[in-house]
Amino acid sequence: MTKKVLVTGATGRTGSLVVKKLQSNDYGWQVVPFARSSRKAQEIFGNTDNFIFGDILSLEDVSIALEGCEKLIILTSAVPKMITPPSEGKPPEFDFETNGKPEQVDWLGQKNQIDSAKKAGIKHIILVGSMGGTNENHPLNRLGNGNILIWKRKAEQYLMDSAINYTIIRAGGLLDKPDGKRELLVGKDDEFLASPPNGIPTSIPRGDVANMVIQALNNPFAKNKAFDLISQPENDDTSISIDWDALFQLA
Ligand code: NAP
Repeated sequence: MTKKVLVTGATGRTGSLVVKKLQSNDYGWQVVPFARSSRKAQEIFGNTDNFIFGDILSLEDVSIALEGCEKLIILTSAVPKMITPPSEGKPPEFDFETNGKPEQVDWLGQKNQIDSAKKAGIKHIILVGSMGGTNENHPLNRLGNGNILIWKRKAEQYLMDSAINYTIIRAGGLLDKPDGKRELLVGKDDEFLASPPNGIPTSIPRGDVANMVIQALNNPFAKNKAFDLISQPENDDTSISIDWDALFQLA
């Protein structure tokens, strides 16, 4: 019987890539996408086959979705919305939707997922977070006064303390650029932000993050690791091959 993995945030920009890659390649996992909007799922995927709809703020919704799954990929996140564009030298202002603040989504929502996973006997959780969490004064924390990186870190710690195997991927700035064309670099403790290797941008295509997430499902060296992830700039059109074992061992 094929093993099942639940992907939350399945209609998100990185989550939808993870779902599509798992649906179109045989990695040995049946994907169960979890999202809150069937309309959005229909728009992105053209169908809602195997989707489970619900809210991560509902323990019951997540528990139902996790039934029969062996692993969980968490790709949910609060999404800041610009409410006032920049003007006359003033920076833009951001806010979050009702019940969509980082404390709710990135802390309580992730905690719900981890608690439900524990009850369901989930063996491994792969969580995508963000670089920058070592700096309480990071500008992202000021967006909508949401302290987003602080709440994300709190959830990461909760996962690390949960006794469930984890892989925490703290991505650099996400790019909507083609994947599979760049070398990936793993680091720790925001060292890339303090000192980018050769001054490169501390960013990475969403598709490359999705590839790392999927590799973490099966790689023996991926468990109980939390690391930063960026990419080298793309320098030509050729695809590169990645030594995933070496990358996870380095992490
Ligand atoms: P995204 O597109 O913002 O997706 C977030 C997902 O969370 C969406 O699918 C959203 O649902 C879902 N969600 C939010 N609240 C929910 C709720 N209550 N119940 C169920 N689902 C809920 O994500 P992304 O930009 O691909 O980012 C992926 C991860 O990388 C995030 O953790 C992000 O913080 C992190 N990251 C981002 C950057 C960057 O440059 N943006 C940099 C580093 C790390 P809907 O689809 O219905 O809205």
